[in-house]
Amino acid sequence: KAKIRLDKMISKCTGLTRSEATRALKNGYGKINNIPQKSGKVLVDLANDEVVFDDEILQYREQIYIMMHKPKGYVCAAKDERLKTVLELLPASLASREPFSCGRLDIDTTGLVILTDDGTWAHGITSPKRKCEKSYLVGSAGELSQEDMQSLEEGLYLDEDDKITAPAKIERLGEKTYRLKITEGRYHQVKRMFESVNNMVKSLHREQIGDLALDPELPEGEWRDMSPEEVELFK
Ligand code: URA
Repeated sequence: KAKIRLDKMISKCTGLTRSEATRALKNGYGKINNIPQKSGKVLVDLANDEVVFDDEILQYREQIYIMMHKPKGYVCAAKDERLKTVLELLPASLASREPFSCGRLDIDTTGLVILTDDGTWAHGITSPKRKCEKSYLVGSAGELSQEDMQSLEEGLYLDEDDKITAPAKIERLGEKTYRLKITEGRYHQVKRMFESVNNMVKSLHREQIGDLALDPELPEGEWRDMSPEEVELFK
């Protein structure tokens, strides 16, 4: 789409409703190419026009693709009565679009979360058929034996699930630190896999989803837009 209405663009970029955007325009908050605009009906050429609203240049995103370094203490949910959600780490202009996370992390897990409002694209990550690999750093309560590592790799029964886990890869990094790569995304999967070999996850961090690694420059609690190349990885 090369052109869209000014009120729609403002609404999408700021999280204001269309009528709020219209009112703000009437009150002189908007400019296209430095020319004041009072009407929301004018069309913006997305490729060439510079839109300024309330003294800020607007960046229009048709859809949003966000890489986040999730900290502890946040849930991957759209809303929660008591707990903080990852959407609270985004500016209002992006949170108002209600992106969802492609594969959730538990409240006490840190690391890579991908957020988007593009459902079709998200499917490329979360669809079980794609077998998208997720890589986790696990800190465990105890050491894993050779047999434990073998059963984690080959597959095992998890309580309340009726089938064994898909083949996984485990690498020992230290006595109580491991890298586990799984292609499924069952509820509390990593924690339950460790419990089923009589161990326990003490800390959990997701470092990679498919070919996308968490940006080492991105501190905990921060986010950035994914690059077009990164978005392309899951198409
Ligand atoms: N497995 C878990 O148990 N928890 C997570 O947050 C992610 C994978």
